[in-house]
Amino acid sequence: MPGVTAQPTIGVLAVQGDVREHVRALEAAGAAAVTVRRPAELEAVDGLVIPGGESTTMDKLVRLFDLHAPLKARLEAGLPAYGSCAGMIMLADRILDGHRDQQTLGGLDITVRRNAFGRQVDSFEEDLHIRELGPQPVRAVFIRAPWVEQVGEAVDVLARVETGPAAGRIVAVRQGPLLATSFHPEVTGDHRFHQLFVEIVKEGA
Ligand code: GLN
Repeated sequence: MPGVTAQPTIGVLAVQGDVREHVRALEAAGAAAVTVRRPAELEAVDGLVIPGGESTTMDKLVRLFDLHAPLKARLEAGLPAYGSCAGMIMLADRILDGHRDQQTLGGLDITVRRNAFGRQVDSFEEDLHIRELGPQPVRAVFIRAPWVEQVGEAVDVLARVETGPAAGRIVAVRQGPLLATSFHPEVTGDHRFHQLFVEIVKEGA
């Protein structure tokens, strides 16, 4: 891994999804942000964000671009990674309601359910209280989001849905250098999740 200075280089997997928003949020959080589409670009980063989008498409493109094996190898070697929504699905070891043949990269000892909140509630927003991010609640934007149905022992639950029929469902987790949210902090202008991830990347140096 390249030496991590005060300003780590963080890649955003750029095969599909809301790449630009993550690049901006990472820059606002003090990182040098670059897009990652090829194995050589992946080698140059200290951490990786996997954005929201469509996990079935992202999975296909990752394999088409010969990134599946290099991504898996770097994750297994301890690369810090943050997955948002479809990115959370990509980082999950187990997936429910995936497409036939859909593969994930894995790393997080969690089971995620795709499109878990149901079609009638495609998108919604909620304030979540996340101890690790301080007393001010986080505005969580959910868009055809997954939830985490089961977590392994090494996984810390950072946030659960607080109201409504899905109350109690797990929507943010951390396992060592891996972070994942069902929702999209990159669209709210609140960069605390990206700041937390930048700190994780620095710790991993
Ligand atoms: N439903 C999408 C999927 O399965 C995720 C949606 C999102 O990333 N906003 O990949």
